Amino acid sequence: MIIKDERGMLEAGRQLAKQLKSGMLVYLEGDLGAGKTTLVRGVLNGLGHAGAVKSPTYNLVEPYTIKDQAVFHFDLYRLVEAEELEYMGLRDYLNNQAICFIEWPEKAGGLLPEPDLLIKINIYGSQRELLISKP
Ligand code: ADP
Ligand code: MG
Repeated sequence: MIIKDERGMLEAGRQLAKQLKSGMLVYLEGDLGAGKTTLVRGVLNGLGHAGAVKSPTYNLVEPYTIKDQAVFHFDLYRLVEAEELEYMGLRDYLNNQAICFIEWPEKAGGLLPEPDLLIKINIYGSQRELLISKP
């Protein structure tokens, strides 16, 4: 799917929100600035979140509770070593009914389980190609 601009990415996120179910793990792959966080912003908005959505770059994870549904948005870009994930209690985040989005899953060095959805975003100038698969 080709996404023309930031608004289109937010809309794609809102559409994606309709397909999500409790406990789903979603990987987001794509270069810096691809639109991973923008897509998550659209998803959270689609789920009913009205407040701000900040990039979790500095604290690795941002938690949300939307209509009793827990959502965790991870950004592992600044992860120094995969073991950090153990210290932060990754398993507790993944082992419940929460929906988890993970930017830069490749930084986890194999510590993460397989995702339910794999989203890849490729950059073509101001456009984005959105690829969604179920591995
Ligand atoms: P990431 O989380 O992948 O690093 P962000 O979502 O934080 O990326 O940032 C994406 C940036 O790209 C934003 O500044 C956004 O305005 C810009 N942008 C330009 N065109 C698009 C597009 N078609 N889709 C999404 N974002 C776009
Ligand atoms: Mg981001």
